[in-house]
Amino acid sequence: MISSEAIGLYIHVPFCRRRCHFCAFYLEIAQPDRIARFQSALLQEIALHAQQDFLQGRCLHSIYFGGGTPTSLPTEYLTTLLNLIQATWPTNSTTEITLEAHPSSLTFTDLAALAEAGFNRISLGAESMKDQDFASIGRFGRVRDTATAVHESRRAGFRNINLDLMYGLPAQSLQDWGDTLESLVALKPTHISCYALTVEEDTRLAQDIARKIVSPPDDALQIEMEAAAEQILANAGFARYEISNYAKPDYACRHNLLYWTSGEYLGLGPSAQSYLEGTRFGKMANLESYVETLGNHHLPIVDHTTLSTSERQRDALIFGLRLLRGVPRPITRAAERDRQIDELLAKGLLDSDHDRFWLTPLGRRYADTVAETLF
Ligand code: SF4
Repeated sequence: MISSEAIGLYIHVPFCRRRCHFCAFYLEIAQPDRIARFQSALLQEIALHAQQDFLQGRCLHSIYFGGGTPTSLPTEYLTTLLNLIQATWPTNSTTEITLEAHPSSLTFTDLAALAEAGFNRISLGAESMKDQDFASIGRFGRVRDTATAVHESRRAGFRNINLDLMYGLPAQSLQDWGDTLESLVALKPTHISCYALTVEEDTRLAQDIARKIVSPPDDALQIEMEAAAEQILANAGFARYEISNYAKPDYACRHNLLYWTSGEYLGLGPSAQSYLEGTRFGKMANLESYVETLGNHHLPIVDHTTLSTSERQRDALIFGLRLLRGVPRPITRAAERDRQIDELLAKGLLDSDHDRFWLTPLGRRYADTVAETLF
């Protein structure tokens, strides 16, 4: 259980070797000169934040390197960066320190150095265990690299290993998806995330669908795939604790739980988001502006919004409902919101008891609709 005192740090690394067809994250194709500019700006960003007392004596509960592909950065830089963060802000033996990584971009030497530096959770973007799926989403690498990366991560000392998967990929069948899940379960990870493919604007996937080169995701098939995942993963000892996330006992992602329980976090890097003391803010989603602003000794903060009490309650409800355990009733006090909740209960999208609300299986399928209703 996360205490209200928990606070996390997120670092957005905006580089990938190639953009996957479905991906709309803020990132660039990795180039050495751009990486070098980012690296020195990030150190400056840490130095400027270090002058603020945002932790107020608290230990960092979690540190999460995401992106993009953080392993686009040299391993030496990642270990130096983590050392600097730990020298700047307090951590302890329970601090979860996650590194997202592409399975085809890792060597044992890198992994051993990363584990030695203090990374204690690795999140591998497996996506699928079928070669044809990699081709259909424009992903670089080979599916067999995932098994190697899991084995080498474990040999390097990582005990907490997540695998990210996507389902509903172009031409992916229910059988293909089941095979992928079985192959990955056999690798004995501690955590698996299963994301339904969605079509984001301005992506190659959206263009291919518009040109009728690729079919859009099939909702009915994705529902079957979600049910298959829940069953296969439950049989393998994984508990579903969030709409897209499954974990072995005691391996739920501590950092992501912060997002779903209204915990506080500071984001570093272009486009990273923060939530501190009831205020949400982002960092510029443009590497040039980000570098230039930090070069002028200013934090590249944009979209600074202090939430009202009602807005905080609304966010706590929307994010908290992603958790299968739902949210406590006391946070739902606004009369208008109570009316909306009654409607969702009547439609069978929410269920409740004396203490809590949670999404029904039907509600989980329409989680975005539920969130929109509550906005
Ligand atoms: S590796 Fe991940 S972050 Fe990079 S383009 Fe593909 S989906 Fe996006």
